Amino acid sequence: MTDAVPYLVGIAPCQDYGPEKVRTAVDSAVTHAGGWPLISGNVLFKANILAPRSPEDAVTTHPAVLRGAIHSLKASNPEIQELLVADNPGYIFSHQKEMLLARSGMVELERSGLAKVDLLSERGLVNVAKGKALLSSMRISRTYLEATTVINAAKLKTHVETEMTGCLKNIFGIADTATRKSAHASRSDEHLCHAILDIFEIRPPEFHLLDAVIAMEGKGPSHGTPRHLGWILAGKNALAIDAVAAWMMGYQDPFSIPLLRVAHKRGIGPGSLEAIHLRGASWEQIRCPGFKRAPGNIRWIPTFLRGAVHGLVKVRPLLQRERCVRCGICATVCPVNAIELREGYPVIDSNRCVSCLCCHEMCPPGAMTAKENFLARIAIRNRTRS
Ligand code: SF4
Ligand code: SF4
Repeated sequence: MTDAVPYLVGIAPCQDYGPEKVRTAVDSAVTHAGGWPLISGNVLFKANILAPRSPEDAVTTHPAVLRGAIHSLKASNPEIQELLVADNPGYIFSHQKEMLLARSGMVELERSGLAKVDLLSERGLVNVAKGKALLSSMRISRTYLEATTVINAAKLKTHVETEMTGCLKNIFGIADTATRKSAHASRSDEHLCHAILDIFEIRPPEFHLLDAVIAMEGKGPSHGTPRHLGWILAGKNALAIDAVAAWMMGYQDPFSIPLLRVAHKRGIGPGSLEAIHLRGASWEQIRCPGFKRAPGNIRWIPTFLRGAVHGLVKVRPLLQRERCVRCGICATVCPVNAIELREGYPVIDSNRCVSCLCCHEMCPPGAMTAKENFLARIAIRNRTRS
């Protein structure tokens, strides 16, 4: 039966991050998804280690999920040579490697001898000539490109720019800062979607896991609120898993999310929930009522109307000066150099700003907020009900 089903997603309940519960849930989700791939060389777990934040903040893949996955994978593939858990964090944090790996709990994986942990950029970058649709050049982690097998170990979160981040978006982190900045430097949502998918398609992982035990709702991927969902998902198709996760987050039509819709158009996976076989729970069981979506820009409006409302319906960065520690990170990460520092405080040139919200995402104390205007609040309220 599994061979006849093109898009199989395995799912298993997992109430908390207790080691035994996680191991049982990973085993179960992977079995539902048809089992681990057969592996003999070295394995890279591409985790989400966006920022030096505690696992309880739900910003990063929980180390307990990686631990459970490594034990599970090794049990079915005893001849694995080497295991590495790695990511490129958001921009500036690559200079704070020790703090990043310690706070996110990844360093414990290495101490326990289960796997090495490192930054994806540590062995340098490879120039990749051209993306399939958009990017004219990309610089991609050598470690990632040369791994025999890649397991995507993503975290489910809302995202102020792409609505959600799961398996597809997690692979964006294999590119260097300059490539990621060029992906963000546009007002068009399709630009960013195609850039993310250009990077994804360079070398899709062999298998995907999604940590949705404690997800993030609201202003993800950095400043949202942890939300208990209690599931681990697994499968061979990233888009199919993300579509299931979007349904879980309350989307009636997950393919209304631009990234998922564009991924389907590019042939990466299914284009409807009917094309997905969910094993391990029912669609009704996994739905999370009242899940708070990310504030969005104008992506929900049909393309032909966007010109008329652009500027009316907006989510923009807004500084809460009293919380600002004058670190300058927002100015460093802005892809269009729209931020100037005056006496250490950021001043935004609104004519240049493309509302990518990277400054909001990367601001350590959350001083740069994402502010919806009146029309955006109405739009978001209506959209959340859909
Ligand atoms: S807004 Fe945030 S990122 Fe920018 S200088 Fe202030 S604290 Fe740093
Ligand atoms: S100011 Fe912030 S939201 Fe505007 S373009 Fe720069 S990083 Fe993006």
